[in-house]
Amino acid sequence: MEYDDHILKHPTGSAKPVSRRLRHRWCDSVATMRLGRIASPDGVAFVSIEGEDGAETAREIAEHPFGTPTFTGRSWPLADTRLLAPILASKVICIGKNYAAHAAEMGGEAPENPVIFIKPNTSIIGPQVPILRPKSSDRVDYEGELAIVIGRPCRDVKASAAKDVILGYTIGNDVTARDQQKADGQWTRGKGHDTFCPLGPWIETELDPSDLEIRTELDGEVKQRSRTSLLLHDVGEIVEWISAVMTLLPGDVILTGTPEGIGPMDAGQKVSVTIEGIGTLTNPVADRG
Ligand code: MG
Repeated sequence: MEYDDHILKHPTGSAKPVSRRLRHRWCDSVATMRLGRIASPDGVAFVSIEGEDGAETAREIAEHPFGTPTFTGRSWPLADTRLLAPILASKVICIGKNYAAHAAEMGGEAPENPVIFIKPNTSIIGPQVPILRPKSSDRVDYEGELAIVIGRPCRDVKASAAKDVILGYTIGNDVTARDQQKADGQWTRGKGHDTFCPLGPWIETELDPSDLEIRTELDGEVKQRSRTSLLLHDVGEIVEWISAVMTLLPGDVILTGTPEGIGPMDAGQKVSVTIEGIGTLTNPVADRG
């Protein structure tokens, strides 16, 4: 199936792909480009987040951040806005058991080939939005993960070309009803509840994902601490494996797997996932009413 790539072209009709030089000109005051989505009194918008930590400005992007975005001229102090999940995904594809130490704690060896599953896009929430524990589960776990955000329609992408189809990287929490995952065999229920896919706080477009610290804290206590260099299948291999199965669309998210240290969350607790070079994704935990 052929996908029309019109959304990757400039709104005025130019088909020129985004140039890195242009990206850097937009954001020459910062080392990397941060793409986010915000709610402000003026509405919801994709933005470029620029400036010093703690004093950032959110510059509104016209329509969407893919291809060659244009700016509307409006901006807000980031502190006056609320960060939403940074992207709208048609699907979230996840890798199971992609760190050897996590495979071991789950009671086995990692499979030779990546095992993939999908979380529905209705499970996505943004930073600070409560993760809701369903009444049907007695154990809801955090799983901090590096998230890949796809930037253009693609399929059959070679690992060596993966960076050409990646918009950037954000942080995900593959929240899991562990009892339901184990009971069902199939993981759609245990992984698919509403609120079970926190994403954020933003997308870093210029980031080398090959060796970043990843850390999950529950109420400030470190529960997971590893490095992306320990991924059994790296970002390129993952994109090749998944895109050989299904077409990936702009905004689609790939969760790359969680390191060891998984564990349950209770209502009233707060979970934070931090990845070096990106930032911290924090969500409170509550029981669904
Ligand atoms: Mg996971």
